Amino acid sequence: MNDDCIFCQILNERAPCYAVHETRYTKTFLDIFPATPGHCLIVTKDHYQDIFEATPDAISMVGHVSTLIAHVVKEELQSEGVGIFQLNGAAAGQTVFHYHMHVIPRNTGEDLTIHNRMPGDPAELEALAARLSTRAYSMRVDD
Ligand code: AMP
Ligand code: ZN
Repeated sequence: MNDDCIFCQILNERAPCYAVHETRYTKTFLDIFPATPGHCLIVTKDHYQDIFEATPDAISMVGHVSTLIAHVVKEELQSEGVGIFQLNGAAAGQTVFHYHMHVIPRNTGEDLTIHNRMPGDPAELEALAARLSTRAYSMRVDD
């Protein structure tokens, strides 16, 4: 764990999040600057800076959970598509240096950005997290 890392703070419950799902190895919560409504982040419970530090097992768990979360956002939000993104290093656009994967609902005609400068509305984030969480735990999870 890294005290200066915002995702470690969320995992330690020293910072808040809009929680969606949890396994022994991962936590999924909403991005507070959503590219689109329902933009989720799947983070490893252990602190790894990026793909170059993370273990293959940890990366596999995130990939495994990404299939669940992709189904969850597509079904719950009826999105046409789902973008899965994972950035490593500032040069690649990574801004939080704790390994994570973006799961972003996508619809035709929307901007294909990953980062948004506008924070989501807290009430909307809370309502979305509740819907996605209920859907996630109602589906089969192999953790
Ligand atoms: P990346 O650029 O791939 O490192 O993505 C980091 C993401 O974390 C960005 O999309 C941010 O909007 C998001 N983010 C930063 N701080 C928080 C936070 N406290 N809770 C949820 N998402 C966050
Ligand atoms: Zn961390």
